[in-house]
Amino acid sequence: MIPSLPRPLDRSKRGAACSSAEPVVPTTDGTERASLGRFPWSLTADELRRTTPEVVGGAQAVLDALVRSANPPTLENFLRPLDRILLDVRNLGNHGSFLFAVHPDEAARTAGREASEAADRFLNGFRVDDRVYRALRALDLGIVDPTTRFAVERMLREMRRSGAEKDPESRTQLLALNNLIDRICNQYNENIARLDRSIEVDGLPALAGLPPDFVKAHPADAHGKIRITTKYPDFQPVMAYADDAEVRRRLLAAFMNRAHPENVSVLDQLLRERYTLARSLDYPTYAAFALEDKMMGDPAAARVFLERVAQGVREPAVLHLSRVLARKRRDEPTASRLELWDASFFGEGYYDGKMRTEEYGVDTKRLRAYLPYGTVRDGLFALCEELFGLRVQRDTSGPLWHPTVEAYDVTHDGERLGRFYLDLVPREGKYNHAACFTVREGIRGLQLPQASLVCNFVDPSVPADTARMQYSDVVTFFHEFGHLLHALFSGHGPWVYTGGSFVEWDFIEAPSQLFEEWARDPATLARFARDPDTGETIPKELLERLKGSEAFGRGSRWLRQSALAAISLEFYDRDPTGVDTSALFREVYDRYFPTPIEPEYHPQSAWGHLTGYSAFYYTYIWSLVIARDLLKPFLEKGSLTDKETAARYAREILAPGGQRPAADLVRAYLGREFNFDAFEAWLKAEPAPIRAP
Ligand SMILES: [Zn+2]
Repeated sequence: MIPSLPRPLDRSKRGAACSSAEPVVPTTDGTERASLGRFPWSLTADELRRTTPEVVGGAQAVLDALVRSANPPTLENFLRPLDRILLDVRNLGNHGSFLFAVHPDEAARTAGREASEAADRFLNGFRVDDRVYRALRALDLGIVDPTTRFAVERMLREMRRSGAEKDPESRTQLLALNNLIDRICNQYNENIARLDRSIEVDGLPALAGLPPDFVKAHPADAHGKIRITTKYPDFQPVMAYADDAEVRRRLLAAFMNRAHPENVSVLDQLLRERYTLARSLDYPTYAAFALEDKMMGDPAAARVFLERVAQGVREPAVLHLSRVLARKRRDEPTASRLELWDASFFGEGYYDGKMRTEEYGVDTKRLRAYLPYGTVRDGLFALCEELFGLRVQRDTSGPLWHPTVEAYDVTHDGERLGRFYLDLVPREGKYNHAACFTVREGIRGLQLPQASLVCNFVDPSVPADTARMQYSDVVTFFHEFGHLLHALFSGHGPWVYTGGSFVEWDFIEAPSQLFEEWARDPATLARFARDPDTGETIPKELLERLKGSEAFGRGSRWLRQSALAAISLEFYDRDPTGVDTSALFREVYDRYFPTPIEPEYHPQSAWGHLTGYSAFYYTYIWSLVIARDLLKPFLEKGSLTDKETAARYAREILAPGGQRPAADLVRAYLGREFNFDAFEAWLKAEPAPIRAP
């Protein structure tokens, strides 16, 4: 799977949930008592529709009263009540966007989307409210603690970037534009979830090469046809193992055309409106606007960075791809080039996988037998207990939104840390990528954080606990769990604007990519990887070979990521008038990467990052530079389970969330500035010497 995956939607949209059972504005009664808050997942679409205007209307009334009465504004008479209003509306927005992503009932998904959009409209309006802006500026920041000052400065900056300093007419226009952009983003994402594709193949021979558990789960129908979908539990194994190149080619073409043609025009509109927004705010392009409040700062710095990475990986990538082509020629002596369905694009590619088996003795099909979902999950929880002292306990008391979903409560040193959900089985209409959603943002003494993994690892046709996972999905599971830990640890700050969601966005893939390292650690895997059919634990030599082959293909993988990052930047760092996004995608991709994108592919139609991450898909690589440096103290201790380092990591990086600039957090943890050394050394690493199995 791709190295890192999004937390979906825009940060401004993340929050938590509302309910009618629980007061939607639980914050004004003076009881500063942390509450887990259970969600009425069974709310009907109509009930949700009734609740939404109550929450938003109530929040607006309180806000209007607040700006009238707080004179002069102070922390207690203005900032705290304002923060509570924002929390309540973000609760509604997060609940809505979460239901939009996961609810099995289409009407409830639509109502969720409407709730999320209503919350967004309120927040967009708040950001251009000059009354609030003036009151915030009138606060005496000389007498408050640094975290509070930082929160207020963040709010003011966000409001300036929304147009709060503009004249009334411009503010009205900007507000309308931001609301429109939110609707377009939601339309784009809804189309991706709705417009999955599938192919039909002729009988069992078409599945040659696939693992037995996959074949068993895909019986032929009465006409001998087998349906294969573009959902990950089908897509990943077929691309990795199907010997029939035509099956791989057809499935990849379907995958590359999800939500096509619908989303091409939606994306065109999104690029256009975001460009208009940026120009109205006096930025040359939307990329310049989007990068200004990131660690990167501006598009020019991003280009320099991407070129530096590409220079480092181009040579190893070309070498790797020429080796893969040579391997392909053993099967097809006349082959003149590698196709996208031969080598990895997402996850393990067919010939990459073959070479990993033949040259490094790592058979990922064999590996799959040792990776039943239930065993992996329990191993992950045990790791979190050992590393961070977390206790994870299943809660089966209440109904959830789907029978396959699991809920867990987490305690840390006897204190409740938060709650999380695992929704890992694909189904119709569900978000079809992999992400960690904020269900509820935590505020110290008020509400505990809740997050949910929404992924598609587990084959729905077999019992979940024994369903086998692709090894690449195990890595993604750990990746998303890294986000989840960040959400739980950081959900205990004093203000909405210092929560984990508010750390610079190009930092947020650092905790997740760091946590992938445990899924690559032989000692960690050895604790849990076990085949329940035979009772056999994973052989030690298989783990050693897996580790030894880890660097295999790394250059191509990160060259491809550089290409995608450059595409996201190029889409947004220009006037999009007349731009053909299919052509621009191909042009930039081909500039970086030698395996061509077919003209009939339209991958930009199902690339959710183009909404949430917009111009800064480079985040994955930038965050990885930091993650490699964050790993160093563990490596220097010689153990990934060194408790002192893990505790320091949780304390200095995870828990502060957005209370300080990310670079400050990293400095506090490392005791120095971060640098490129660990990343560049890692990129240059060679796979271990070839050893036959
Ligand atoms: Zn991620």
